[in-house]
Parts: sequence; C-alpha cells; structure tokens
Amino acid sequence: LPLAPDGTTPVRVLTIAGTDSGGGAGIQADSRTMAMCGVHACVAVAAVTVQNSVGVSGFHEIPPEIVAAQVRSVVGDIGIGAAKTGMLASSSIIEAVAAVCTEVGIGKDQPVPLLVDPVCASMHGDPLLHPEALDAVRNTLIPIATVVTPNLDEVRLITGIDVVDDRTARQAAEALFALGAKWSLVKGGHLRTSTSSTDLLFDGDKFLEFTSPRIDTGNDHGGGDTLGAAIVCALANGYSVPDAVEFGKDWVTRCLAASYDLGAGHGPASPLW
Ligand code: PLP
Repeated sequence: LPLAPDGTTPVRVLTIAGTDSGGGAGIQADSRTMAMCGVHACVAVAAVTVQNSVGVSGFHEIPPEIVAAQVRSVVGDIGIGAAKTGMLASSSIIEAVAAVCTEVGIGKDQPVPLLVDPVCASMHGDPLLHPEALDAVRNTLIPIATVVTPNLDEVRLITGIDVVDDRTARQAAEALFALGAKWSLVKGGHLRTSTSSTDLLFDGDKFLEFTSPRIDTGNDHGGGDTLGAAIVCALANGYSVPDAVEFGKDWVTRCLAASYDLGAGHGPASPLW
C-alpha cells in the first residue's frame, strides 16, 4: 500500500475490538498490521482480555457508552477511511457500536466501509462473546457490515451451517449475505483437509475464490485479525472489496510464513517487519 511521505498525515483506520495482553491477537494484531501497512491505527477498546500464548483466562468488558464515545471522539477529530470490529463481548456493546457507527457514517451504504469480524471464541475455544449475543451479531451487527469475515467455527454458530466442502461454503456465504452484509467472506483456513486455504467471497450475485498455500505453522494466533486488518487498510486506500481481500489474503500468507515462536503456545500470526 502507498506510504504517506514523511511529515504528511497518513491514511487512518479504526479498530473496535478487544486487547490481548500477550500481544498476539485482537487490537495488538490489528494495530501492528495497520502500522506495517503504512496506516495510522485508531483504537476503540471494547474489552480487555487476560491472555497469553496458551489461552484466554478472562476478560473485562468496557461500558458500552465508553466504547461508543471512543468511536465518536476519533471520527470527529481524526477522521477515518475504514473501520473494523473484532471482539465485542456482549449484546449491549454490539448494540452501542452499531448505533454509533450508523450515527457517524460507518457501515455499508455509508461513507466509511465497515469490516465485521464476528469474533466468538479464541482458537483454544475460550469464549470471547457471550452466547446470548449471537442474536445481536445476526440482527444488529452483520446488517451494517460492508463485509463480514467469519471463520468456519463462527459460520457454524451464526448460520448453523457446517462447512465441509465448496457446496456448503457457498451455502454459508449466501446465508451470511441474507443476514444483510453487503459482502460475505467465508474464511476456509480452518478446514484442515487441504494443502491450500481458500476463502470464498460473495456479494449476492457472484462467488469469488481466493486460494493461497497452507502455511504449516503453529504460530497463527490472531491470523483472522491480521487478515481483517490488512483488508481494512486496503479499503481505506480505496481498494474495492475483492481487491482488498486479495491484498489481505496475500498479506496474511506472507505473515504466517514469517511468524515467530512466543511462549509455550501459539506465537502471533503477524511478525515484525
Ligand atoms: N483475543 C482477541 C482479543 C481476539 O480478538 C481474538 C480473535 O479475533 C482472539 C483472542 C483469538 O485469536 P485466535 O483465534 O487466533 O486465538
């Protein structure tokens, strides 16, 4: 992506998500990726997780009005070219985020595109979203998404569809589109039966496939965040959704190939360049 010349204001983006004390996923992965993409990252913290490379042992939710106030504060002064949601923890935070996004012009058919990563759990299965908040994800968050980017576990929770092959992936992409997202991206990276990783993008009309080689690494913590953050940076630079997904897919593949060990568990999917 183009870099702003020294001393000039770069493109800005906003991530509304949870922190990771281990520096691997969530807001830490987002802001690291955004900086590496030459974009200034604004952050609205929705939850603070107690987390390391082994797992998430707890989280603290930020009051919904404080989450919304962070968004309002940033957009009014700094201005942003695209935004992303990650871990939002609860239905009351989701409702506050959806309302403030609509208020300030973030979302599909609004000036600022919104990528919704409907984070439900960590890769270790630790919950990051209260189960009763799934209705708010379906009815409040996905309907304002320019693009929604669930992994296969999230697809199952949100749509009830178990993606096992191309046919079920298409069904899932259609079901997500039917919930109101302008584009749906079904991330196939967790389908471990293949030597490649295919993500399926759908806009209600055409299906586009993005395939990359599977990178055999255990250092993949925050891989979904890294992909989403790179897509958001490309959107803020004026890329179309398909071009932004192509950029993000290539970005996360190169990141996984360069990722490093950290702690006793999974190192971060995003390296340091
Ligand atoms: N922690 C936070 C705050 C996250 O947002 C996410 C994913 O989006 C995770 C943890 C989980 O990352 P992973 O599934 O790679 O463990």
